[in-house]
Amino acid sequence: MRLDVVTIFPEYLEPLDVSLVGKARAAGLLDVRVHDLRRFTHDRHHTVDDTPYGGGPGMVMKPEPWGEALDTVLASGAPAKPVIVVPTPSGRPFTQDLAQRLAGEEWLIFTPARYEGIDRRVIEEYGARFDVREVSIGDYVLAGGEAPVLVMVEAVARLLPGVLGNADSHRDDSFAPGAMAGLLEGPVYTKPPEWRGRAVPEVLISGHHGRIARWRRDEALRRTSDNRPDLIERCDPASLDKHDRAA
Ligand code: SAM
Repeated sequence: MRLDVVTIFPEYLEPLDVSLVGKARAAGLLDVRVHDLRRFTHDRHHTVDDTPYGGGPGMVMKPEPWGEALDTVLASGAPAKPVIVVPTPSGRPFTQDLAQRLAGEEWLIFTPARYEGIDRRVIEEYGARFDVREVSIGDYVLAGGEAPVLVMVEAVARLLPGVLGNADSHRDDSFAPGAMAGLLEGPVYTKPPEWRGRAVPEVLISGHHGRIARWRRDEALRRTSDNRPDLIERCDPASLDKHDRAA
């Protein structure tokens, strides 16, 4: 998969060299290219922002540098057509489902902004020719879109074939469509069997696969109903068994 990021803070994307994403790059599974938006300015101060039409506080990112940057990046991969992901708090929520869809794409371009965001005409211009997704990583406002890009790239990269050591390890994650069908994952334990007087639940060391699976499902249901009752309400009733309903 190819990933391009256009930003005024290329150094903010350095964590993409680390850990799972870094290993995926080293293994040739991810081709990450970070571009400095200021390279596409032509004034002495490399200006990327200006005052908002209509007045109001803050600055807005100018369309010209974004247009030049995106044209250059797009031309470098033509005729392939990327999905362009625009991080913004006013976008649609980033979910595991969207991460899964993006993981099926061959090429993603991310446009993290600063200030009050990017001049709207840029979204319209590229939205007319490409699949442009405005995406929010949560109901809060950050200073810039670089951290959201790190979040989204990591969520997408771990779903790519060959990136996780064990291909099944995201199957039962929270939100995943696997055995837990959109529930949150329950608690997890490792050795030693007792730590500071706290024992691992007996069922987990019973070796009884049926009881372990039932316990995991009950814990997932309990945690979901405590922390995210909205997910239980959205659950497909057909995905619940009679023990779930009793719980
Ligand atoms: N005035 C904008 C608003 O209220 O929607 C907020 C702009 S924010 C200070 C600057 C940039 O940070 C955004 O354009 C976006 O790239 C990024 N950003 C901030 N919060 C975000 C979030 N929750 N999800 C995705 N991107 C976000």
